[in-house]
Amino acid sequence: MTDRCNLNCSYCAPGRLRVMSGRSDLLSYEEITAIVTMAAELGVTKVRVTGGEPLARRGVGTLLTALSGIDGIATLGLTTNGTLLERHIPGIIATRFRRLNVSLDTLDHDRYRSLCGFDGLPRVLAGIRSALDAGLRLKLNAVCWPGFRISDALDLSAFGLERGMDVRFIGAMRVRGAGRVREGILDDVQEAIGSRWSLVPDGRRGSANLFRVEGSTGRIGIIAPSSSGFCEGCGRIRLSSTGLLRSCLFSRGGVDIREAARQGNRSAIKAALESIIFNKEAASGREGGVVQTMMGIGG
Ligand code: SAM
Repeated sequence: MTDRCNLNCSYCAPGRLRVMSGRSDLLSYEEITAIVTMAAELGVTKVRVTGGEPLARRGVGTLLTALSGIDGIATLGLTTNGTLLERHIPGIIATRFRRLNVSLDTLDHDRYRSLCGFDGLPRVLAGIRSALDAGLRLKLNAVCWPGFRISDALDLSAFGLERGMDVRFIGAMRVRGAGRVREGILDDVQEAIGSRWSLVPDGRRGSANLFRVEGSTGRIGIIAPSSSGFCEGCGRIRLSSTGLLRSCLFSRGGVDIREAARQGNRSAIKAALESIIFNKEAASGREGGVVQTMMGIGG
């Protein structure tokens, strides 16, 4: 719902590719709500708001409230870097958004600062605390970026499991200009966590391989974008902040529905949604192999 972000993580949107859309190019909250309402009419039941940093867009509460009021949307989630989370908790609690994914790659202050561009870790931790106190269900997402260390994985696992959160480790996808991804890192992460905790396989949800850990309601998840299961577990479609509908994270193009949304052209929006939803099988896969920028797509 926005392609702007207050962080500057090198693996997500490398500096020289941080081309952000002008305000007038963004879908308005009314336009997003209208599109999601039509998607719900076609059978979509889950919505996740992401970005850029969704909590950085002005008046985001208006959108969360509007999406919460759509019939047929049973599950509402938000993906955030957590830096602005604490102040938004009362607003979130007032809506039906209950599933929060917080992206956090390290608990080391210095490395957080060098990865993300500022010392936001205390704010993220305060946001997580407030969310848990408010009874929200949280997952931590950690990208195994090139500088990721096994100690990050162990620290994050201990932190999450103690608090009953799922902690999911995501293999870094190749983003144009973001440097090399580390092959094999997820195996190393899983092995290190498995030698500290006893991991009991808990099946697959979506793209994640999950493991239960005795004594915690939280689980460990491994998300390997290079594995075949990654695409099989994906039933998502994506709507960018500027109105591009995509069936796949790796799609090069997409269907532009911004003008249709501006004109209130319901039949054009419906046709575009149908083409993306019902051709998902055929369209999914690593069409481009490299993600254009994660910041513009939403992860
Ligand atoms: N700003 C929000 C956040 O930080 O969660 C939402 C947008 S962010 C693009 C969504 C997710 O994409 C985050 O969990 C982020 O870590 C993940 N992500 C970004 N770049 C990635 C990459 N190169 N490979 C895998 N995941 C990536």
